[in-house]
Amino acid sequence: MPDIHVSDAKQFLRCRLLWDFTSPLRQNLEPNWPPHQLFIGSAIHYALDARYRYGPAAVIPAFADWVTKGVAALAPETQTGPRWEKMLQQVDTADKVLRHYNLWAPAADQDWTWLAGEYTHQCDFPLPEPIRMLAPSEIPTLCEMPRVRYVMRADGLVEKDGEAWVVEWKTCTTFPDTDELWRDIQNAMYVMALQYNPPPILHGLPVVGTVYTFLRKKAPAEPKTLKDGTLSKAAIDTSAEAYRAYLSYQQISPLWYGDILSALAQGEHNFFRRVWVRRPQASLTYALENLLAVARDMIDPNVVIYPAPDWFRCRFCSFSIPCILLHNRQDITPNLRADYKEGTKRPHFAYHVPEEDET
Ligand code: SF4
Repeated sequence: MPDIHVSDAKQFLRCRLLWDFTSPLRQNLEPNWPPHQLFIGSAIHYALDARYRYGPAAVIPAFADWVTKGVAALAPETQTGPRWEKMLQQVDTADKVLRHYNLWAPAADQDWTWLAGEYTHQCDFPLPEPIRMLAPSEIPTLCEMPRVRYVMRADGLVEKDGEAWVVEWKTCTTFPDTDELWRDIQNAMYVMALQYNPPPILHGLPVVGTVYTFLRKKAPAEPKTLKDGTLSKAAIDTSAEAYRAYLSYQQISPLWYGDILSALAQGEHNFFRRVWVRRPQASLTYALENLLAVARDMIDPNVVIYPAPDWFRCRFCSFSIPCILLHNRQDITPNLRADYKEGTKRPHFAYHVPEEDET
């Protein structure tokens, strides 16, 4: 029985051609160069996981640990050129985002009790009717598949007011429209899978929804120092916590800048946002029906593959060159051989807090 990953199903829905290149069910390819967004996203998730396991002081050492191990796992020839320079800049920004997060989170985390970090879970959903499909062994015989195995890895689980919630970290350049979260099939399925096959760690708590934390990929700006030694009061993209930390670092009394601090503390936060989305039961059933319908198409050996060009998505697509070649009806085999390799799973490194004599 093939595993159906909801991230793979989402890729299928976005662009079947891209899915055909990348899916473990299809060509299972990834580019030879380090995919920045995946690299940085994984490092941030790893650091946040360590933060909630070991405490706020673990976040920066864990981030550095992941980056060191992640870089060591990359081919040396990929560690050069403009792509590499861009990635190093993004590592630097991510480090600042995490330091800023440590200033913001203590107040925001008052709402929840942490239950578990990165949480892997799976369950087999029965299908209303068996799907006829090619056997995974590629032996051209048809087999019956009465169930779909759903595999999930949630970023965490928390408890709030006697209910359990799935934790989701999301990095972004701008905050998304929160209406989008109602269409998030991935998290609906997390909730559904945890309800369907409740793990002992929940101690019977009902799983009711997802708490999203958005981290904007931007470091807070620092105020300029004027000729008279005071700080400029011009508007800058920062937060009250970052401004206060800057004053503390410069040993400046916050009393001189109370007006700026209170203005920054008002309104929605510019860098981090936490949104709780409670999922009605009907929305979970709808998500499951949709996932099963998508899974049915994904495992169909005769599924039709076509591109779904999109101005925004294609700009960031790692398979843009073979896609253009295909659009010109050219042979893509040499390009795939030269620039892509067999896909690997997201590297999983174990982090532990170093003993004193290890540091
Ligand atoms: S470039 Fe666009 S259309 Fe082509 S594979 Fe990528 S996402 Fe699909």
